[in-house]
Amino acid sequence: MADASSVRIDGDNPYILIDSNAEAMSANKDFLEAIGNEIDSLSADMRTISLEIHDHPELQFKEFHAHKVLTEYLSKQAGWVVTPSAYNIATAFVAVYDSRKKGPVVSYNAEYDALKGIGHACGHNLIAIMSTVGALATARIMEKMSIGGKVVLFGTPAEEGGGGKIKLLNAGAYKDNNVDISLISHPGISPDAALVRTAAYTAFKVEYFGRAAHAAARPWDGINALDALITAYNAISVLRQQTQPGDIIQGMITDGGVRPNIIHAHAAGSFVVRSSSRARVEALMQRVHACFEAGATATGATLKIIPGGSYDDLIPNRALGRSYRHFFNRLGGNIVKGDVDILESPTMASSDQGNISYAMPSIQPSCWIRSEDEEGKQLGGPHTPDFEKAARSEEAHGLAMRVAKALTATAVDVLTRPELLAEAKKEFDEMKRMNEMSRADIKPTK
Ligand SMILES: [Zn+2]
Ligand SMILES: [Zn+2]
Repeated sequence: MADASSVRIDGDNPYILIDSNAEAMSANKDFLEAIGNEIDSLSADMRTISLEIHDHPELQFKEFHAHKVLTEYLSKQAGWVVTPSAYNIATAFVAVYDSRKKGPVVSYNAEYDALKGIGHACGHNLIAIMSTVGALATARIMEKMSIGGKVVLFGTPAEEGGGGKIKLLNAGAYKDNNVDISLISHPGISPDAALVRTAAYTAFKVEYFGRAAHAAARPWDGINALDALITAYNAISVLRQQTQPGDIIQGMITDGGVRPNIIHAHAAGSFVVRSSSRARVEALMQRVHACFEAGATATGATLKIIPGGSYDDLIPNRALGRSYRHFFNRLGGNIVKGDVDILESPTMASSDQGNISYAMPSIQPSCWIRSEDEEGKQLGGPHTPDFEKAARSEEAHGLAMRVAKALTATAVDVLTRPELLAEAKKEFDEMKRMNEMSRADIKPTK
């Protein structure tokens, strides 16, 4: 495509710009080998930690074992100051390496929560070690090469709902450490990519309050809360035909009444609204709200909406993505150039790293790992039992270490090339500005 640093490629996502720049011209090519050696020397320790976390799956905010394993290991590393249970979150931690020389602050987020019933089927054991080894290797390079700045490793619990990163962000963890950029990678079965985007979502519960009555003898005395919810559910089903690609509304009924011969005084449901950006979720939510109000209007029941968790979409920073791609490809990877990468790599999954990407320049490259049977047939991806097995393999460990090398090289690139950090920040500010504009632009269809 043409040089078009301001051309919009998708009217609904005005912040996506065509990435026409050439490959990053990195000044620190020599660091990559040194980084590789550091990570190779830590790889066996990381394998032990990864298996320890994988074999003890723990759910959101209860990752006590993973928290202990990681903080104890980090406490033994020279130069690191570790705060377990940081910011009053039992299973969060902050680990800091300070060079005591002026410079940028780079950070990594480590996830380690699992999924109910299927263990580490999202591969967060690999995320934990990629970020940990990345942070440790960055610090070692800083020390050996006399590079100024700081590295912060955040232990971020409850990615699978609960939003540990949002809690840390709101508590000031990133501000308190003057963090400039945030790095993380997620394993999956999609091809390796630098500029992965995730979707925004918001979850909420709905309740309707009506009035009980004998359903046969005096139904006219009742107000049917279930009918209100069914009316809303049907209105949403109709709305689904008129939404934009990327808009997803899902719901379930959690309380449909007590008995068939009683007019239902109470009904409740659980819903999730997703879209490609925070602005679009907000706009879509207004239309969804109208459906719930329709249920209340039609039946006379009283509506109550209880907000749940919300994750922002992840907007990858292209300047950081270019640096990452440059190093990853030099390590034998094959990530396509920015314009194609960003178009090929959106996912409708959501992550609390999205909220981080609205607070500072950030990337979450994907790390392909093999989930295949013996004949090479593709097996399940994240959130399937197949992927739980894949996340434990020796090969996946090796691939995760390669990603960690590229993440570390990106961090060192930021620490040593002020122009890269300036570019990442400039792009970030522009993204924020355009997002505010698109927020004002996107209005729900009446
Ligand atoms: Zn997941
Ligand atoms: Zn995950």
